[in-house]
Parts: sequence; structure tokens; C-alpha cells
Amino acid sequence: MTAASKNRRKQKDVQVLDIERDYTMATMITEECINCGACEPECPNEAIFEGEDIYLINPDKCTECVGHFDEEQCAAVCPVDCCVPDPNIPEAEQLLLNRAKTIHPDKDFGEEFPSRFRN
Ligand code: SF4
Ligand code: SF4
Repeated sequence: MTAASKNRRKQKDVQVLDIERDYTMATMITEECINCGACEPECPNEAIFEGEDIYLINPDKCTECVGHFDEEQCAAVCPVDCCVPDPNIPEAEQLLLNRAKTIHPDKDFGEEFPSRFRN
């Protein structure tokens, strides 16, 4: 089994939140990851974790930082630029905001919430 397929399998094993979804993921970490760990504490949703070979993103927790920051924090700190949007699975701002609300039910995001879509 290749490293990529092992990681995909691990991704599937991640416990997911009960959110309706018909996609696989938004921001992803590529195999260029050097396991520096810089991204993990920056994620507002605790979506990033150490995988068997590289760090991984739980797609059910990733909001592309919508609701918290105006850019993806993992991408901002990654020294090798390997946190990238999956071009095959674009997600709309409203869907990402709804996910943020599900993850943080006590937070008031208001109308002027930070979002990479508003940069
Ligand atoms: S884009 Fe934001 S929410 Fe998604 S994994 Fe990176 S830091 Fe976390
Ligand atoms: S910051 Fe980049 S290189 Fe470092 S662990 Fe995260 S994804 Fe990997």
C-alpha cells in the first residue's frame, strides 16, 4: 500500500461530525508535508492531526477558516506550501459557515464574519 492510499484510508477512519455532506474535503495537505507540526495548533477547528506519514485534515472539521480568519491559517504557516484547496471539491462560503456554526454552537459569527471569500 502506498503512503497516499494509507493516508486516504486513515482519513476515512476519522470520526466525523453529524453534518450533511456530499463531498470529500476542502483544504488538503499534500505529500510534500515535512511533518513540522506548525499548522496543527493554528487551526480554529482542531481539524489537523498527525497521520502515519504526514499531517492530515479532518474534512468534517475544516471550514477553510471561514468564520474565524480571512485566510486559511494552516496554509499561512506552512513552510512548504502544502496546505492547498482541493480543486476537485470546491465548497461554498455558506456551507463552510454552517459547518463552523455546527462546530462552535455557542459562538456568534454575526454578519461580518472573517472569510477568505471576502478578501
Ligand atoms: S483551512 Fe483552517 S479550518 Fe481548515 S484545516 Fe486549515 S486551519 Fe483548519
Ligand atoms: S505546516 Fe505544512 S509541513 Fe508542517 S505539518 Fe503542517 S502541512 Fe506539514
